[in-house]
Amino acid sequence: MKATKYIWVNGKLVDWNNANTHVLVHGLHYGSGVFEGMRAYKINSGAAIFRLDEHIDRLFFSAQTIKLKLDYSKQELKDGVIKVVASNELQEAYIRPLAYNGFGELGVGAKNKAEVIIACWKWGSYHKATAAGLDVKTSSYIRVHPKSTIVEAKICGHYVNGIFALQEIEGTKYHEVLMLDAEGYVSECSSSNIFIVKDNILYTPGLGTILPGITRDFIIKLAIDLNYKVIEKKVTLEEVRNADEAFFSGTAVEIAFIRSLDDVNIGIEGENKVSRHLKKEFIKVVTGNNSKYSGYLTNVY
Ligand code: PMP
Repeated sequence: MKATKYIWVNGKLVDWNNANTHVLVHGLHYGSGVFEGMRAYKINSGAAIFRLDEHIDRLFFSAQTIKLKLDYSKQELKDGVIKVVASNELQEAYIRPLAYNGFGELGVGAKNKAEVIIACWKWGSYHKATAAGLDVKTSSYIRVHPKSTIVEAKICGHYVNGIFALQEIEGTKYHEVLMLDAEGYVSECSSSNIFIVKDNILYTPGLGTILPGITRDFIIKLAIDLNYKVIEKKVTLEEVRNADEAFFSGTAVEIAFIRSLDDVNIGIEGENKVSRHLKKEFIKVVTGNNSKYSGYLTNVY
């Protein structure tokens, strides 16, 4: 991670090296924090953030699920995001707002004052193998269960589930894991959603066991606008293996083609006709080259 100058900490810009917290904050002990990941892209006139409103909405939704009261309005946090990107003079950035249960009591149920930070830094491609496509392995760990937590919330503690899944492929040729739900249907990956394409139709797991990705939501809209049919349904591993194409979607990964699942190649290697089309159009949108979707961008400068 390449340091920038400032991090927004509880309403003030603080030097990167001084953005510290106490070791006894509740969030550190129990994962009682919520966060977002969004991206700023270089556009002709400067830089813009993709779907800032939706990310801040989801942050507030997540916070409310763990009864974490944020002392800032949505507008104040949106202004904070813009300010931190601008003050770090970045044109392309990954932006990480985080709010966590702070210092005070340490019982599991304790509710302390929330700390809120917004950091940003340069983060290129999430996966090094994006161009060729990812080799994916089905995880033996299931995705966090909807009866154990609120899966729609982006809660820090949930990510231990992804950490376990990724540990299984550490040191192997696989780039990513695919996680199933408790019924054995495809859920999502450690930090992205999945789509498959069969006969030019897109399929993606419906809501219920996944994080409702803001990229996923946009891809559904974009695909429909481009006259593709999109079906949200329970997806099986068999359907992924037999798909013509498959890809992950997410803020960090953007659109990442999947080359194989559990050593079975998906479709014709390197073809990805529909996925490529969507990715091309997606990049046009986020870089401000499609005025139809300019409402999805918030200018930084
Ligand atoms: N699922 C998980 C578990 C994630 O962490 C992410 C990344 N936020 C996604 C899906 C994709 O969500 P988004 O498109 O909003 O980044």
